[in-house]
Amino acid sequence: MDHFAIKNGVMHAEDVPLPRIAEAVGTPVYVYSRATLERHARVFREALGDVPDKLIAFAVKANPNLSVLKVLQKQGYGADCVSVGEMRRALAAGIAPEKIVFSGVGKTAAELAAGLEAGIGQFNIESEEEGLELAEIAAEMGLTAQCALRINPDVDAGTHDKISTGKADNKFGVPIDQAGQIFGKLAAKPSVNLRGVAVHIGSQLAEIAPLENAFEKLGALVKSLRGAGHTITHVDLGGGLGVPYRKGEVLPAPAEYGAMVARVTKDWGVSLIFEPGRVIAGNAGVLLTRVVRVKRGLNHPFVIVDAAMNDLARPALYGAYHHFEAVEPSGADMTANIVGPICETGDTFAMGRECDALQSGDLAVFRTAGAYGATMASSYNSRGFVAEVLVDGDAFAVVADRIDAGSIMDAERVPDWLA
Ligand SMILES: *Cc1c(COP(=O)(O)O)cnc(C)c1O
Repeated sequence: MDHFAIKNGVMHAEDVPLPRIAEAVGTPVYVYSRATLERHARVFREALGDVPDKLIAFAVKANPNLSVLKVLQKQGYGADCVSVGEMRRALAAGIAPEKIVFSGVGKTAAELAAGLEAGIGQFNIESEEEGLELAEIAAEMGLTAQCALRINPDVDAGTHDKISTGKADNKFGVPIDQAGQIFGKLAAKPSVNLRGVAVHIGSQLAEIAPLENAFEKLGALVKSLRGAGHTITHVDLGGGLGVPYRKGEVLPAPAEYGAMVARVTKDWGVSLIFEPGRVIAGNAGVLLTRVVRVKRGLNHPFVIVDAAMNDLARPALYGAYHHFEAVEPSGADMTANIVGPICETGDTFAMGRECDALQSGDLAVFRTAGAYGATMASSYNSRGFVAEVLVDGDAFAVVADRIDAGSIMDAERVPDWLA
């Protein structure tokens, strides 16, 4: 459930009519709803009510906006970071270092040192090589690194190939059949407290079964590691729960996921870590855009909007579906190709889409844009970076300024020898 709905013929974010935001901030603009973020955070936490000892660490890459992180920090959430930049954001939002998990297959030496310096709660080590490097850096700094070993369980998450992370030939984690041996090697390092294992098999999962399969494998691994004399106190189960992008689409509810987790892990005797991203932020945001013009097409008209693939990359990257609707629907429909202004055919949000009838100057939204939206934006075609707004009841604030093409150009130089 979200707080974007038509009231008196106009779409609102909570109690704010979207045209008011478009007027004040311009378009395109991401609009997030605080009440929706809080609701999702609460529902996810309550779904895990039967898991006694847990940390829920929001996957910052899904939506790294500082104000979004602040909303979740106030809900008691930690942060799952995949770069030092994300770690700095989590800290700036007031998230305690011990609630920060640092994942990612390519952490640099500088990033490992920065994490140690900040005293983060857990590094999820993605390879033997990384573990050895972290041990060395921690020893030099006279610190102990709190760690888990990320396991590649070799399960098919049944999602898009580009967001699948737990198959044997994906780059993430160590192969489960080598995990015992690698764990032993790293656990022997005195500067490393290798306290558990981690898994994350992919994103936008439409079924519980692949997760359950991965968790069962992890449970067996925990048993065998303990059998080999290791102390396992923490297991990180990652994120990945999908959200509905289409009207009427039904995905596994957090409650179903929580019940499965409670059942599978009840004898593990560990503290569990969760890393939800999309399920918290996805439906808490829309991309508000204005129709530039409607152009005749071969089969359908092209509705050309002022948002483009640089603002919302998912359709171009993964062929992803975002529901598209008018802010002030007239009741009439049309079949249209919805495209952005960028000079690439990939800048297409939908072909032959049934949608509200729209004409030049009308406002519209792409729904479910709160996760993997603004965070993936670029300035391609020198379009600048899109602005972000957070709504709270009848108030709203710009929580990320639009960075115009001129400011980006200001960061560039023409050397003297070229002038
Ligand atoms: C991206 C990512 C997540 C979040 O995935 P969602 O599908 O957004 O829940 C969690 N953990 C890791 C390690 C990730 O890379």
